[in-house]
Amino acid sequence: MAIRYFNYIFIFFYYFWLNVYAMRYCLLICFVFNALFSNAQLSDSQIRDLKGGHVKPDNSYVYRLPFATGSKFLLIQAYNSKMSHRNELSLDFKMKKGSKICAAREGIVVATKEDSNVGGLKDEYLSEGNHIIIQHADGSRAMYWHLQNEGVLVNVGDSVIKGQHIGFSGNTGYTAFPHLHFQVQDVNGNDIATRFNTKKGIIYLRPAKWYRCVQ
Ligand SMILES: [Zn+2]
Repeated sequence: MAIRYFNYIFIFFYYFWLNVYAMRYCLLICFVFNALFSNAQLSDSQIRDLKGGHVKPDNSYVYRLPFATGSKFLLIQAYNSKMSHRNELSLDFKMKKGSKICAAREGIVVATKEDSNVGGLKDEYLSEGNHIIIQHADGSRAMYWHLQNEGVLVNVGDSVIKGQHIGFSGNTGYTAFPHLHFQVQDVNGNDIATRFNTKKGIIYLRPAKWYRCVQ
């Protein structure tokens, strides 16, 4: 009899402890779940990437879209596009001639050209693109290309602030249609993919999408 009672008591405690452990695990899981999802500042895809270990920390500079606040343009070509951006990290925004170009990042103007009046898909036009090159504090340089004749509003040596109206888009140089070619290179002249502040948050741009400048 005593052994049977002992068994009952043992079984009771056994289940009691099991439950306590189960409860603890439940609480732990709830805690982790809440920590992960209650402040959902990440998109589903980012959470998926995090879980899969695919997210690398990104503390790179956040650029402003290189045109006037409120205006929106179609991104025709993005990084490594096959048309004319093979092995090149640059962006082509389709733009009517005369659209306002604004600095995507503050810096100092290191080069300009605005005397060209020709453009097309001939090799002889390669050096005919009107442009502005701005050097940033970290030594990287942003290039704004194909600007219109006399379409540069800044001079070499000028300091420009982020968002400053620096010129007008055009169709000069090696180009098939009026657009802005935007490209950033590091101190060694290697292309850099840059992220931008957009209506959809801070993202790397994708081709065939419209982007409106929100800053
Ligand atoms: Zn381009």
